[in-house]
Amino acid sequence: MNLNLDIIVSLAKRRGFVFQSSEIYGGLNGCWDYGPMGVELLNNIKNEWWKSMTYREDVEGLDASILMHPKVWEASGHVANFTDPMVDCKECKARFRADQIEDSMCGSPAYKGRKASKCQAEGKFTEPRNFNLMFKTFLGSVEDSSSVVYLRPETAQGIFVNYLNVASSSRQKIPFGIAQIGKAFRNEINTKNFLFRTREFEQMEMQYFVKPEDDMRYYEFWKEERMKWFTDLGLKKEKLRFSLHPEDKLAHYARAAVDIEYEFPFGWGEIEGIHNRTNFDLTQHQQFSGKSLEYFDDSTKEKFMPFIIETSAGASRSFMTFLIDAYHEEEVKGEKRSVLKFHSKLAPMKVAVFPLVNRDGMQEIAHNITEDLRKSFRAFYDDKGAVGRRYRRQDEIGTPYCVTVDSQTLEDETVTIRERDSMEQIRINMNSIKNYLLEKLN
Ligand code: ATP
Repeated sequence: MNLNLDIIVSLAKRRGFVFQSSEIYGGLNGCWDYGPMGVELLNNIKNEWWKSMTYREDVEGLDASILMHPKVWEASGHVANFTDPMVDCKECKARFRADQIEDSMCGSPAYKGRKASKCQAEGKFTEPRNFNLMFKTFLGSVEDSSSVVYLRPETAQGIFVNYLNVASSSRQKIPFGIAQIGKAFRNEINTKNFLFRTREFEQMEMQYFVKPEDDMRYYEFWKEERMKWFTDLGLKKEKLRFSLHPEDKLAHYARAAVDIEYEFPFGWGEIEGIHNRTNFDLTQHQQFSGKSLEYFDDSTKEKFMPFIIETSAGASRSFMTFLIDAYHEEEVKGEKRSVLKFHSKLAPMKVAVFPLVNRDGMQEIAHNITEDLRKSFRAFYDDKGAVGRRYRRQDEIGTPYCVTVDSQTLEDETVTIRERDSMEQIRINMNSIKNYLLEKLN
């Protein structure tokens, strides 16, 4: 199916996954709000990531603050280098990333549909200038240069500066990792493609500290683990690939880097980066802070600066990826059925319960079933409209199971359970619904 991103954006709004930020004021560019279904999906993604990272012996969790000492960003190189080259159109005042002009359109309504590269060829653009992507603000009541702080553009630095605190408090020994989920902010020049490039987003990052000589072994290990995480949660294998950064394009701190890319409706795009960052970050922070960040190995009595293998995924970008990948349209009895085929671990709502008709006590039974199921997972009660319509509404948000109470329930206490993808129905006793679902959903 040739999927248009607009279908996803509109479904996301209609069914409460994602709304434009401050919509009643015309929206705020590059910012989005997660609605009732969206926040469930996002939490489920983050939960799965958190479990896969920290339910292991060698990785600890962390939640560092968004605002950090400004020197952090000098040491990391962000103050000097976290820039994108920007050009302005002298005519329509639109702003473009100089390295993305080929993919951009002219901003003037007078030339609707015209490629920006044409305007460039006509000499309408300024020379490229470097634009720093960090949001600046002030700490405390005085707004001067000594009180400037930044909204973090990545979560990683909070991990680097805390690694000795984590190691000593949790008695971790190298190799070990630190995982963190949190918001990051980048004043992107061009936001586009829905949640793909936004100004406020969430990252899921894990930094793994190793002996220098072990770096490539763990880089390969995490590369495979991270791809497996996406496919285990149902992303289609043929839509995923590794994209290796060629040696001459590596960031100055990296020894090796690879992106996990997904084939979006607008082309291949990065969803996660796995990087061998060497000892660059710790060396920089040691130098700028004047504090030793070397690791002391008790067993060998060696002191050394660990190398770091980083896995850096966008939670928001993953959210969009899972949403797009799950979207499926088919024809059923002459009607279009849109269904989000989420992995059951990610589905925002796990089960819906319906009385077939609103009489003979069916509603009460369905309510009781819903309340009981809610003790274990998100369950939804619905008695509005024809039952076929109710199934479709659940398909559209990706609910894996629907339970229906009907007249036979009144006779023998059985209900039907319908599975989302196959649409097959079975009858089981009311008392075994929970066990049946617990088994299926896990
Ligand atoms: P890109 O080249 O797409 O700008 P990047 O290489 O700068 O991304 P990283 O700094 O490696 O990205 O960030 C790690 C992850 O954070 C990315 O793989 C992506 O999932 C997410 N991410 C980065 N920037 C954004 C953004 N503006 N909006 C949403 N997610 C983002």
